[in-house]
Amino acid sequence: MPLDIQENVPLAPLTTLGVGGDARLFVTAKEDQDVEAAVAFARNKSLSLFVLGGGSNLVVSDRGWDGLVLHINIQGLRPRAAEARIILDVGAGMEWDAFVAQAISLNCAGVECLSGIPGSVGGTPVQNVGAYGQEVSETIVSVLAFDLHENRVREFTAAACGFSYRASIFNTSQAGRHIILRVTYALVPEGRPALRYADLQKYFVDHHRTPTLAETREAVREMRARKGMLVSPGDPDSRSAGSFFKNPVVSPSQHDDLNRRAAARNLQIPSYPALSQQRKISAAWLVENSGFKKGYIKGHAAISSKHALAIVNRGGATAAEIIALRDEIQAKVEETWRIRLEPEPVLVGF
Ligand SMILES: Cc1cc2nc3c(=O)[nH]c(=O)nc-3n(C[C@H](O)[C@H](O)[C@H](O)COP(=O)(O)OP(=O)(O)OC[C@H]3O[C@@H](n4cnc5c(N)ncnc54)[C@H](O)[C@@H]3O)c2cc1C
Repeated sequence: MPLDIQENVPLAPLTTLGVGGDARLFVTAKEDQDVEAAVAFARNKSLSLFVLGGGSNLVVSDRGWDGLVLHINIQGLRPRAAEARIILDVGAGMEWDAFVAQAISLNCAGVECLSGIPGSVGGTPVQNVGAYGQEVSETIVSVLAFDLHENRVREFTAAACGFSYRASIFNTSQAGRHIILRVTYALVPEGRPALRYADLQKYFVDHHRTPTLAETREAVREMRARKGMLVSPGDPDSRSAGSFFKNPVVSPSQHDDLNRRAAARNLQIPSYPALSQQRKISAAWLVENSGFKKGYIKGHAAISSKHALAIVNRGGATAAEIIALRDEIQAKVEETWRIRLEPEPVLVGF
């Protein structure tokens, strides 16, 4: 089948934040071969290529993308049994939360705390998606991807993906080099839910038995909805790219400096086991203690009224307005705490 290349396609509706201009050219890949054909097309025409998944971790510039946007829509889920595990090969274009729902309907543990995260399966290894004490790196066995440098499909073991906090080779050392086609996960049949996160434990405090995987999924989705972290058309606080800043990982001397600064303001740096084990500081706390309140408005952009880390499009925002609010938050946090917050979403076409 020849590629169906479209011109001047608006990108804002294909993202959860809903800002930005058009893709000069746009194509959807439903099969592995479409990816190879699109890559060859972009090469022949000397077009820069951007790979779009579910658009939930992006800020697209007002200029848009002056090249080819390749939307990955490769579906399919194949389960196979292995020793004490179920192995699932999943197309990169499958919606992540639909995959989690399937895993739970198969009564498999390993991704239940990642319920309600928007985006595609192929997007999850890129920034090693994580929430409520679980990360995809715990269950990913391998990633199948088209390598743009070597012009061939390659399989990466989990170790070769170089996973760490919100990072992998796919968004650091080899960013933009690989197009993910399929991800293989190993889940635990009849497994117990991971209740590592304090908020999740608190949710089930009056529950007199271990919650099921399905109950855990519902709890996570409910907690996410309360924070505006579940994309829902009725919730303007969910028109975002999720957390806009990563929790900074600090050195012992930075930690001492932070404690001194906090003490001078009669404040205490919060310490949760999930954060302190990795010497992470809550970015939300830093934002809220740098003069910003939830719901802070700047033009058509705002800080979510439910979560200090999310920048939301109040309706009609430009990418420039989102970036202006990012800059203001970064500058204020740095001035107050000497910590530079690192943004989490990917900037496209800036
Ligand atoms: C309300 C909300 C809540 C969120 N909560 C969380 C959370 O709890 N934890 C968390 O970790 N993230 C969270 N996110 C961020 C986001 O959902 C994840 O990062 C998600 O995995 C992004 O996947 P995507 O398919 O939407 O990728 P996109 O946004 O389309 O792309 C993101 C990056 O991945 C690349 N990419 C996407 N697909 C592929 C592919 N097939 N091959 C190669 N590169 C690809 C893109 O080129 C881009 O660089 C949240 C976002 C929102 C809007």
